[in-house]
Amino acid sequence: MRILLMGPPGAGKGTQAVVLAERLGVPHISTGDIFRANVAGGTPLGVEAKRYMDAGEYVPDSVTNNMVRDRLTHDDARNGFLLDGYPRTLAQVGELDSMLADEGTALDRVVELTADTDEVVARLLNRALEQGRADDTEDVIRRRLEVYGEQTAPLTAVYAERGLLTQVDGMGAVDEVTGRILDELGV
Ligand code: ADP
Repeated sequence: MRILLMGPPGAGKGTQAVVLAERLGVPHISTGDIFRANVAGGTPLGVEAKRYMDAGEYVPDSVTNNMVRDRLTHDDARNGFLLDGYPRTLAQVGELDSMLADEGTALDRVVELTADTDEVVARLLNRALEQGRADDTEDVIRRRLEVYGEQTAPLTAVYAERGLLTQVDGMGAVDEVTGRILDELGV
């Protein structure tokens, strides 16, 4: 299965993605996680990405697209993957289409986790206290939500038009949300 998981920051994508990938037996590919690993390792990619991430802005496509293209060619992603955090822009949708076309494959489903804004801000502020992520301060959180609304929310219409989109309510207990997603995927 080739699945894309979408949703605003704080909707619980990362949490759900880990559980779902395990259930489906596919790798969880999170661009946010890959960027954070590079930041932690002090790689040139990490140094470049950090400037944008700390401000709540998207990392430039020139950096992100190559990183994803490379990751998708690893052996473990040949038979499926759960992509989390990519694509985030219309240009990235086109890039992903071309990456998959090169491999002769295509997406099976796009799952959008929905969440209300007050709830996601509260969750992210709470995560800031627990994990201390550099991009979880209130101002940066608001900026990330703004950027999501402007640049990423429109992507769901594209996938809906292709008949790939499933919307799942991301509010409630983690297990409940996982159950809803698995039901929708027919797993
Ligand atoms: P969240 O979904 O909580 O906002 P992520 O962990 O998915 O966070 O991503 C954190 C940051 O990494 C984003 O705010 C952005 O700066 C960068 N990033 C992740 N994925 C992409 C992408 N596809 N394109 C550009 N930037 C990205």
